[in-house]
Amino acid sequence: MTSVTSHSINHPDEQVIRIFLGGKHVTHKVVIIGSGPAGLTAAIYAARAELQPLVIEGFMKGGMPGGQLMSTGEVENFPGFPEGVQGADLIQKLKQQAERFGATFLMEDVETADLTGSIKKLTTTSGENISANSVIIATGARAKLLNLPSVETFWGKGVSACAMCDGALPIFRNQPVAVIGGGDSALEEAGLLSKFASKVYLIHRRDEFRASKAMQKKVFDNPKIEVVYNSVLEEICGGDLVESIKLKNVKTNEVTEVPMKGVFMSIGHSPNADFAKGQLELDPAGYIKTAKPTTKTNLDGVFACGDVIDPNYRQAIVAAGTGCMAAMDAERWLSSQ
Ligand code: NAP
Repeated sequence: MTSVTSHSINHPDEQVIRIFLGGKHVTHKVVIIGSGPAGLTAAIYAARAELQPLVIEGFMKGGMPGGQLMSTGEVENFPGFPEGVQGADLIQKLKQQAERFGATFLMEDVETADLTGSIKKLTTTSGENISANSVIIATGARAKLLNLPSVETFWGKGVSACAMCDGALPIFRNQPVAVIGGGDSALEEAGLLSKFASKVYLIHRRDEFRASKAMQKKVFDNPKIEVVYNSVLEEICGGDLVESIKLKNVKTNEVTEVPMKGVFMSIGHSPNADFAKGQLELDPAGYIKTAKPTTKTNLDGVFACGDVIDPNYRQAIVAAGTGCMAAMDAERWLSSQ
């Protein structure tokens, strides 16, 4: 018979919370969903507060474990790294730091969540049932795609939303590729792709970038990048793979077909909060609402941090900061119960 280990959590409704995990009952005071800078910082703080957090890292839904930094190259603006740091290395270090203080990790997606009761119930994609007193949601955001049938047709056949993941593939080497967007991500991706492609067309719907001036300078100084302003993607054409794109100039309505082997979408992100719909209060864009200046959601014992609450800043350092806040809010809330 399996021995049951449990810890009293002094909850008013239930003294003992058991989670059946790997054949052994364990107790989770805090479960953190997401493993980007927000989730991992929450894990460091919660672990140091001796809350033994379980981090459900994510797997396929809404990106990859570690979040958007995993597909970011060099991060030059995270404090403490004067020479810059690779996004994936930063995530690795944050994870090691959380592990050092006792956080445990589960590389799965949350499939369903019942967050309304005093005991929060989560089910992962593989059917694992997890219960917790408190939950910190740090599920981040995922890439938006243009709503064109040809984007779906050529997805994975020349169309991508991650230059860092796919840019070095043989089909794009020494070939013309396009990046759609005018934010920091689009300009960063254009620079990255210019290392592999013969030419990068940076296609923006307006005549002004919203990206930072520093990022713009890099693009303007790069002879392999051609900026195409006031233009939108009408269609992606090809056979088995992408062969060309049709661009419409929004000022003249003229449509031009340009030979192209790759199309990289970089038009922003959507929050990964679908699993909480109907329970958590979301803003019209789908971001989880929190009672600022705290990370409390409308549900008792549920906290949210990182890009899933942040349509404005969306920076790793801000996500880390709100992750810290969420862990402190959760700890205080648990103590008050
Ligand atoms: P973003 O700043 O929201 O930019 C999205 C871009 O896509 C905008 O230029 C927007 O055009 C365009 N766009 C949106 N919908 C479109 C559509 N349907 N068709 C055509 N174009 C469309 O997103 P982001 O670039 O992913 O950046 C997100 C955040 O991360 C920002 O805060 C950014 O500063 C930060 N970031 C920082 C770095 C860095 O510092 N190294 C790198 C990457 C990202 P409009 O401009 O016309 O709205």
